[in-house]
Amino acid sequence: MRLILLFAALWGHIYCRKAFVGDQVLEIIPSNEEQIQKLVQLEAEEHLQLDVWKSPTTPGAAMHVRVPFVSAQAVRVFLESQGIAYSIMIDDVQVLLDKEKKEMELNRRRERNGNFNFGAYHTLEEIYQEMNNLVAEHPGLVSQVRIGSSFENRSLNALKFSTGGDKPAIWLDAGIHAREWVTQATALWIANKIASDYGSEPSVTSILDTLDLFLLPVTNPDGYVFSHTENRMWRKTRSQASGSFCVGVDPNRNWDAGFGGPGASSSPCSDSYHGPSANSEVEVQAIVEFIKNHGKVKAFLTLHSYSQLLMFPYGYKCAKPESFDELNEVGQKAAKSLASLYGTKYEVGPICSVIYQASGGSIDWSYDFGIKYSFALELRDTGRYGFLLPAAQILPTAEETWLGLKTIMEHVRDHPY
Ligand SMILES: [Zn+2]
Repeated sequence: MRLILLFAALWGHIYCRKAFVGDQVLEIIPSNEEQIQKLVQLEAEEHLQLDVWKSPTTPGAAMHVRVPFVSAQAVRVFLESQGIAYSIMIDDVQVLLDKEKKEMELNRRRERNGNFNFGAYHTLEEIYQEMNNLVAEHPGLVSQVRIGSSFENRSLNALKFSTGGDKPAIWLDAGIHAREWVTQATALWIANKIASDYGSEPSVTSILDTLDLFLLPVTNPDGYVFSHTENRMWRKTRSQASGSFCVGVDPNRNWDAGFGGPGASSSPCSDSYHGPSANSEVEVQAIVEFIKNHGKVKAFLTLHSYSQLLMFPYGYKCAKPESFDELNEVGQKAAKSLASLYGTKYEVGPICSVIYQASGGSIDWSYDFGIKYSFALELRDTGRYGFLLPAAQILPTAEETWLGLKTIMEHVRDHPY
């Protein structure tokens, strides 16, 4: 029996899954530390092939986990035997995926008249095409910088917003985790918003008169393509580790900041596998090289989903960063402007206290490198749809996120260092 289960687990890891028919996402609420430990053990049972969307942290805080149809019975029996409270958050993942796919096809037909719809999800090719269009429409302001190539040799294209000269810069990236689709979509909307607002909106104008902005909408293009063609739940890169059947590294555990410490896995099959060494992923390497070569990056901002969090260092340790008070103040101010539009509430704080200790993350690296204004945002929602946020929420998410980011950028503009 164990052998069969092991084989099934390997099969699931090696071969991608196109269908998630009958998979449920459960919301589980542990009521004490002992139950959290039980859930951590459950998560480690490889044969169940659980896909943890949100880890258990403190008693009373929700854990979200996608349970494959074949494991549903075993998981329910376990939770009930332990007296752990749970409810069904998504009843059938495949139903949401089918809806998402249908909407994309419909949108593609509508876009044939040439108008790009920022309120829809797009393939990598469509996003890259729209980035070319933005450059063509705003030649004096927007250009494109190829900062490197992905493992599968796709270009890593950053949009550069610059009014000329040799200015200090802000870095903004999205989509380092492939399945967090609302982040790539949000980044593209923001790119268009900045390009259209420069010269007419005073705040954007003064930010870009003081600072350059580099925006990388798809940090993990291989993973993004894979999440469209093979497995919508794909998170990692697509690099091939030697000596393992499993593919991919968690690129946000791969940075040279407490590398290999708590909150990252050394198992190549894990979704939080930190990789064979720091910067092993060419996508991470490309950004590190770019930032080092630029030499004047003053803010490092990165978009993730989901959970509605605005976080700053540290993740690899729980010590307060030197700039804690200022970062916390900027973060609170940004969360307030974000909420002013639709009332979306964000929690603000260091990664370690807001979620959990997690090593090898990008903003810890950037902060230790000397970029004081390092923030990571986890966009909508808090769990109704999780990674499968309906396209109808892209525009409101992008609009409110931009207000938060703009507040941070204004602070960076007004506090040169
Ligand atoms: Zn993420």
